[in-house]
Amino acid sequence: MRKLARILLIAIAACYASLTAQTLDLVIADGRVLDPESGLDAMRNIGISNGRIVTITSDPLTGRATIDAAGLVTSPGFIDLHAHQQTAETYRYQARDGVTTAFELELGTSDVDGWYAARAGSLINYGVSIGHIPARMAVMRDPGRIFPTADAAHRAASPAEVKRIVQLIEDGIRKGAVSIGAGFPYTPAATREELTEVFRIAAREHVSVHAHIRGGVAGLDEALKLAEETRAALHIVHINSAGTSATREMLETIASARSRGLDVTTEAYPYAAGMTEIQSANLDSYQNATEQRLALLEWPKTGERLTAESFKKYRQIGGPVVIHTNTEPMVAAAVNSPLTMIASDSYWDNGTGHPRTTGTFSRVLGRYVREGRSLTLMDAIRKMTLMPAERLAARVPAMKAKGRLRAGADADLTIFDPARVIDRSTYREPGLPPVGIRHVIVNGVPVVRDERLVGGGAPGRAVRVGS
Ligand SMILES: [Zn+2]
Repeated sequence: MRKLARILLIAIAACYASLTAQTLDLVIADGRVLDPESGLDAMRNIGISNGRIVTITSDPLTGRATIDAAGLVTSPGFIDLHAHQQTAETYRYQARDGVTTAFELELGTSDVDGWYAARAGSLINYGVSIGHIPARMAVMRDPGRIFPTADAAHRAASPAEVKRIVQLIEDGIRKGAVSIGAGFPYTPAATREELTEVFRIAAREHVSVHAHIRGGVAGLDEALKLAEETRAALHIVHINSAGTSATREMLETIASARSRGLDVTTEAYPYAAGMTEIQSANLDSYQNATEQRLALLEWPKTGERLTAESFKKYRQIGGPVVIHTNTEPMVAAAVNSPLTMIASDSYWDNGTGHPRTTGTFSRVLGRYVREGRSLTLMDAIRKMTLMPAERLAARVPAMKAKGRLRAGADADLTIFDPARVIDRSTYREPGLPPVGIRHVIVNGVPVVRDERLVGGGAPGRAVRVGS
C-alpha cells in the first residue's frame, strides 16, 4: 500500500514537472536572486509564464526560452515614481536603465483618460497622477508648455476657479489616477486655502500627494502642516534638490513626523544639479540675483554659466536649464538615507534633457553600492522596487504584485552585472545609455537583451486604479 502511494506520488510529481516544463514561457537560470520583501539573496532559477513569476527554485527549470543569468543579479524591475514627459523615446532610455514601471506623479496631468490613451502599447508600464499644476493651468488658461508661465503661476484663483480645480482633481481620481501631484514653487499664487483643498481630497480619497515643496526647512514645515491638518498621505519629491544644505535636517524632520504617525515618504535622485524650464516661475527669483548666484545656472546646449544678460536672453527663448545648487555630500546624505526611494525626476524635452533620465538607477548601483559602499545592494534595490510599490499599494492594489520577486508577482525583472553597472550620461551628453544593465523583462517579455533594446515588443501596461 505504501509502495503504491509512493509510486502515485512520483507519478504526480513527474506530471507536475512536465506540466511546468510545458507551460514556462521563460526561465532566468542560475542568477543571484534578490528580493527585498522576503530578504532572499541566493542562487535561484525563476520560471515565468503568462507575464507572471510561476516559481523561484533551486531546482533546474526548462522553458521555451532561457536567459543565462550566471554571474548576474536578478532583482524586481525598477519602479520610478517621478518620470516626466514619458514618450516612446524616454521609455527606451529608462528601460536601458532597468526601469520597468514609470510614473509621472509630481506634475501629473489634467486629462487622465487622454494621458493613458496616448501611451497604449508602450515599452514599459506607466501610470500618472491627477496634477494640481496642470489642473490649475487648464482652469486658468495658462499658455505654459510644461509649467505655468502666466495666471496659473502668478494669480490667486477666484472661489469659482478653486471649485473647478477641485472638481477637475476629483474627476481625475474617479478616472483612475494613482495619486495627486503638486508643485508649490510652480504655482506661487495658489493660496494656503487652495492647497488645503487639494490635501483634503487626498485624505478623503486615500491617495498620496506627491509634492514638490518650497525649498528648505520652511517649505517642508509648510507641507507637513498641510498633511497633519488634513491627515493626507504626503510624498516629498526629490528631497536632495528641495533640501540642498538642509537635506540632513529635513530627513530628520521627516523621520520624526513618521514617528508621530504621519504617512510621509520621500525620494532622491543621485545628481548634484537639477533641471527645469528656464521660463518657469520657480526661477523668478533669479531675475534680480547676483552674478554669483546666476552662475549656478548652466545653459546645457553651450555649457555656459549664465549672467544677468544671458538669463534674460534664454528666458525669452525658453528651454531646459541646469541648476548647480547642490553638492555631492548633500546628495549622498539623501541617497543613503533609509527614508528615501530612488526616483529619477527624468526630464527630457526636444531631444535633450538631464542625465538622470538615462542614468539614475545604474548610477546608484555603480557609484553608491559598488564604488562608495555606502549602500548595500539589498538596500539600494529596496529603494528602487519595494518602497515605491508600497507607497502606492493602498490606492493601487496592482502594486502589490510589483516590486518583489515571488510566485504570483508580475514578471517585471532587471538583470544586471553588479561588477560593471555604471551610468555614462553627463550634462553635456545626457543621452548615453549605462553599461551593465544586461536584461530587462516587462510582464514576462524581454525588452532589453544583452544591453540592447529588443525591437518590436510593447509589453508595457497601464497602472491605473480600477483597470
Ligand atoms: Zn519633477
